[in-house]
Amino acid sequence: MKKVAVFCGSSIGFNEIYRNEAIKLGNHFIENNIGLVYGGGKIGMMGILADTIIEKNGEVIGVIPGLLRHEEVFHSNITQMIVTKTMSKRKIKISKLVDGYIALPGGFGTLDEIFEALTLGQLGIETKPVGILNTNGFFNHLIKQLDVMVTEGYLKQSNKDMLIISESVADLVARMFNYKAPEMTIVINKIVK
Ligand code: AMP
Repeated sequence: MKKVAVFCGSSIGFNEIYRNEAIKLGNHFIENNIGLVYGGGKIGMMGILADTIIEKNGEVIGVIPGLLRHEEVFHSNITQMIVTKTMSKRKIKISKLVDGYIALPGGFGTLDEIFEALTLGQLGIETKPVGILNTNGFFNHLIKQLDVMVTEGYLKQSNKDMLIISESVADLVARMFNYKAPEMTIVINKIVK
């Protein structure tokens, strides 16, 4: 993986354990020569992560929709900033740049982005690893909800298993490096044929 998209909160959260793990992830990217692609903000978890990497001369590419560009949130000191016309074009641009996706703690925006990445994997449109850093068990309830979806017949276990979950930065990134997407046997193949 040369470049990885990280989706994370535009807020910093109340517990500094999350901020510290964002710094750990940034340092891990530096040590392993991984470029960061992210939402382009300077606030919250996003800002902490970008600053950590920039301070050590790593690569940080922001992809921000024009509507957020003029707000206070725009990070003006990163390697490259790409401005897109819309939120959906931003997602497409990010997906073209990266070899994998990671979610750190965040809110609606973070979930929206990571679930889009999972959906692309589920449909076989992409074969990239998708991971969540489950710091302090932050995502435990979400993972339980995914299990409910499986037991109630709305999510295949094999699709749930695509999601790489770890509480450790090094373990998460190592498992993402080793990820092999499952063979797709889904309806879309039939439609195309
Ligand atoms: P949230 O989890 O709701 O705080 O949203 C964070 C995610 O949505 C990030 O990964 C960004 O890609 C995007 N996002 C939300 N707010 C902003 C912002 N003010 N500036 C840049 N990106 C943002």
